[in-house]
Amino acid sequence: MVFTSPIPEVEIPDLSVFEYLFGGILEADLDRVALIDGPSGAETSYRGLLAQITGVAGALSARGIVAGDVVALHSPNVPAFAAVFHGILRAGATATTVNALYTAEEIAAQLRGSGARLLFTVSPLLPQALQAAASAGLGADQVIVLDGAPGHASLNDLLREAHPAPSVSIDPGTHLAVLPFSSGTTGHPKGVMLTHRNLVANVAQSLPLIGATPDDRVLAVLPFFHIYGMTVLLNIALAGRAGLVTMPRFDLPDFLRFIQDYQATYVFIAPPIAVALAKHPLVAEYDFSSVHTIFSGAASLNHTLGAAVAERLGCRVRQGYGMSEMSPVSHAIPLDRGDIPLDSVGLTLPNIECKLIDPETGAEIHQPAEGTSAPGELLCRGPNIMLGYLGNDAATAETLDADGFLHTGDIATVSSDGYVTIVDRLKELIKYKGYQVAPAELEALLLGHPLIYDAAVIGVPDDAGEEVPKAFVVLQPDAALTGDEVMAFIAGQVAPHKKVRRVQFTGQIPKSLSGKILRKDLRAAEALLAEEA
Ligand code: AMP
Repeated sequence: MVFTSPIPEVEIPDLSVFEYLFGGILEADLDRVALIDGPSGAETSYRGLLAQITGVAGALSARGIVAGDVVALHSPNVPAFAAVFHGILRAGATATTVNALYTAEEIAAQLRGSGARLLFTVSPLLPQALQAAASAGLGADQVIVLDGAPGHASLNDLLREAHPAPSVSIDPGTHLAVLPFSSGTTGHPKGVMLTHRNLVANVAQSLPLIGATPDDRVLAVLPFFHIYGMTVLLNIALAGRAGLVTMPRFDLPDFLRFIQDYQATYVFIAPPIAVALAKHPLVAEYDFSSVHTIFSGAASLNHTLGAAVAERLGCRVRQGYGMSEMSPVSHAIPLDRGDIPLDSVGLTLPNIECKLIDPETGAEIHQPAEGTSAPGELLCRGPNIMLGYLGNDAATAETLDADGFLHTGDIATVSSDGYVTIVDRLKELIKYKGYQVAPAELEALLLGHPLIYDAAVIGVPDDAGEEVPKAFVVLQPDAALTGDEVMAFIAGQVAPHKKVRRVQFTGQIPKSLSGKILRKDLRAAEALLAEEA
């Protein structure tokens, strides 16, 4: 049985992202502040942002970028990110956003996987960006450095060229707007094909529940390069004509100071920030009276923790759920629904149909007339669901079924009131502080060690309940290696969030007859160990 949103369907205009967000901007909104650079306080108005978007689109077009080309954007949160992101889309090209903490090899893998023709980066990240560009076959002249670097065009250089924006005609339903990378339910990170319609839909679907207004000042600490920050900050907040205060990296004192000094009203976070807000002594020294809502997503928020944040800060706390493959939001607790329990991810967004299926038998689980359903894998269908994975029909077919339902790999329940609660994760994906860690990627690296015979990685809870990657390692006969050496070997090759943080040596990795790692068995053994402890 399909269940849907209690909220009425919304209209999804057949427009490009740029036309939808900015096409009808009111004269009165043009002089509002769109972006504030947190560290310096420098402001950009909506008028200024639109001029920059046009300038970037024109400069890209002058460099031969046409509709269908992919352009990579590798930067922490700075105001220029918004101009370049929307400039790429305005030029008809597709933006692939790259994690700012990635190593050269991780960046190169995304450049190759997406087929990017140009790379935007920032000067502090230039060494790894250049190494990655060279390894992916891009010349130094195809690397643009937002804040400038000798031998590279800067954002200001592009804007000074003052090219008019090209006229591009695209079909929002099929034209790719962005290609974020996600490992999905299994395997290595893959390019998630999201169209203009997917992104436009997700803004239109989210607005009735969690939209921002021109009175909002939104703290942009979640990275723009991840789909959550991209949609809620660069699309939903700007659609509401709010002002975004950008933070290049999370730092607790700066985070608290920016909220107080910029009078932030609406703050999107991931659960690890909630831990700091609930517990850190420094929080007591700041004024949060401007904040109306803290909104958490990207990983599960504990109810007690959320309630402690609400109590301490004196504001609402809400939660949402999503996935890169859904552009990303499919569920959220509406701002005006304080009655919905905080451990639920709230209501299904309008225009989305959901199903729960028994992961063993595939049998549908029904929404009960009273109480809460049995748990099952959550399936979603709607206008925000990706077209598929770039160049990977097999992975697409495993994730999107013949009826168009996306298999999320998350286990959920639904109540008679339509409240959805995520209770477990079926897929192998690990989330460390809200960031994706793909076990397959770490396993491939571990197998690259000459003394390691076999390896498997799963997520386990640490002492604070935070999920961390743990490696089970089988050594070659007579080989000797310590857990610290294994961790150091991986740490040298990956972004910090992907580090292996626990190691257990074992005689054998449990596998199915077809050779698939039986993660269930590893998880069960781990749970047994935790119980005994
Ligand atoms: P990503 O594609 O990086 O956004 O990761 C999506 C995955 O993050 C989902 O499939 C879930 O496993 C997890 N996730 C996101 N939001 C929540 C939430 N509120 N509660 C539990 N898990 C979540």
